[in-house]
Amino acid sequence: MALTSRPRGTNDIIPGDIELWLELEEKIRQVCHAFGYKELRTPLFEHTELFQRGIGDATDIVEKEMYTFEDRGHRSITLRPEGTAPLVRAYIENNLGSGSLPVKLFYYGPMFRYERPQAGRYRQFTQFGCEALGSADPLLDVETIALPLALYESCGLTGFEVELNSIGCPSCRGAYREKLIEFFAPHTDHLCKSCQGRLERNPMRLLDCKVESCQAIMEDAPVITEYLCTDCAHHFSGVRSYLDEFGIPYKLNPRLVRGFDYYTRTVFEVVSSELGSQNAIGAGGRYDGLVEEVGGKPTPAVGYAVGVERLLLALKSQGKLQADMPGPNLYLAHFGGATKMKAAYVAQTLRKQGLWVELDYADRSVKAQMKAANKLNSRFVLVIGEDELANNRAVVRDMQSGQEASVSLDDVGELTKIVGECAK
Ligand code: AMP
Repeated sequence: MALTSRPRGTNDIIPGDIELWLELEEKIRQVCHAFGYKELRTPLFEHTELFQRGIGDATDIVEKEMYTFEDRGHRSITLRPEGTAPLVRAYIENNLGSGSLPVKLFYYGPMFRYERPQAGRYRQFTQFGCEALGSADPLLDVETIALPLALYESCGLTGFEVELNSIGCPSCRGAYREKLIEFFAPHTDHLCKSCQGRLERNPMRLLDCKVESCQAIMEDAPVITEYLCTDCAHHFSGVRSYLDEFGIPYKLNPRLVRGFDYYTRTVFEVVSSELGSQNAIGAGGRYDGLVEEVGGKPTPAVGYAVGVERLLLALKSQGKLQADMPGPNLYLAHFGGATKMKAAYVAQTLRKQGLWVELDYADRSVKAQMKAANKLNSRFVLVIGEDELANNRAVVRDMQSGQEASVSLDDVGELTKIVGECAK
């Protein structure tokens, strides 16, 4: 292992890329503000049991993908593989449901899953998620879809599609479960090891299996939508009506089940035509049982998680979200010695006003410094030589318009004003 290579499945976000990230983060905050979601930050690790109970121990994530370790106090700790269970834990622990409902929260940050890395699939990746707790209203399911769509649209993304399903509630799933077990029984020998192990424990998980031979069997499996109880069918029809009302196109996919046990009723995924096999740019659903499962009062809830890296990949391939790369506000060229000292003083004063000021640290020639200023795309340039030092005045040049102005170096208010005006 070379010290210069990062762990498999991780990424560095370097200058040049970070600008896009920051721009996207800004848009996330804007859209969350408009929909009334407040940010909640949870730790990067939690007690392992939270995920075992929350996500379900017969899921790929819990069985194969968690970064779990024992800490020095012999507690089992897991780096968070997703944001919903931690958010629900924090909602209960901080008593956030004590006021008016629903409570609308969002999170943003890294998640960790030991998956096979490939384009768009990483071991550390970033999710933005929005969650509304405390209401079963199908309008909230649709707002939870509308929020990320508003984000995608505000970034200029096109070519994505919403896939929708309802996977019912524990009461309508009983009959479906029996049907699934009956259907899979003759195929048991052809199922992968994980599916064989899950058949009795949690047959719905088989529908989510990525193994090709299993997927071929799944094609003829009975679909949950035919087994929905009256309440779930009614809820699902409410979701579809609001989607129609919002003018959000969607495709019904009765095979969509999602990889977490906590989902109930509505599930959805948004896929992008820009990406290859890892084409889901976000997914979510309703999880009416999770708050109670984690130890809180029965609380219906619904949420969505956006895969930020995948969204950026899709945006990049469409040439969208081009963050501009502005240069410094001012480059201060100098001749070393006392002129450098003066340049440093001016830089310090302007930087305290929030202006980006660059200067030379290598005592290069003024010609080389001017080249550097050009390369950095500095908006203004000012040269401090012996004369400028003696007169305490220098000429600041606007590199865009070519205009020049003589300014004081003693009281740099005037310079701050000229440079600052253009920075707005
Ligand atoms: P999930 O939490 O599995 O429902 O995933 C929600 C979204 O997160 C997916 O639609 C992807 O966009 C993204 N995502 C999930 N797993 C990964 C991963 N390993 N690497 C990158 N993005 C991921």
